[in-house]
Amino acid sequence: MKICISCEKDIEGKNAVPIKEDRIIRTIRSIKKMLRMAKMNELYVCESCVQKHTERRKTFEKHMLFGSVFAGVVIVIMVGAMLFTGKLDLWAFLSAFIVAGVILCLPIFKYAPAIDGSINPAQSAEPPKPKKTPKRVIKKKMR
Ligand SMILES: [Zn+2]
Repeated sequence: MKICISCEKDIEGKNAVPIKEDRIIRTIRSIKKMLRMAKMNELYVCESCVQKHTERRKTFEKHMLFGSVFAGVVIVIMVGAMLFTGKLDLWAFLSAFIVAGVILCLPIFKYAPAIDGSINPAQSAEPPKPKKTPKRVIKKKMR
């Protein structure tokens, strides 16, 4: 069956875009298979959910980015502190990585898969305008 992952309805007779099969989707599938819960549905996002889904995806990407930056900062600070104090504590070292790992995993709760293409290819966003850096006019005072 082809279903929409957002409203969980059959997309029969509706416009829909397929979901990209990424590592997370494959992992969820294999877990479901192990638990014999796999329905082997083909996943889509239907027309009416596309906008909502795109927003969710953007939020997820932001969280992912923030998570990886934050995890990196945590490791740098903790390892840096250890090097600074000269005490190489294995447990502190490990906990830095555990904390970083947890931070990295948190965005999974906001997971929204990428979609393959879009429903309205004509409705493409305007090309990003190059940012104009204001030219500083150096006023030379004539004396
Ligand atoms: Zn839907």
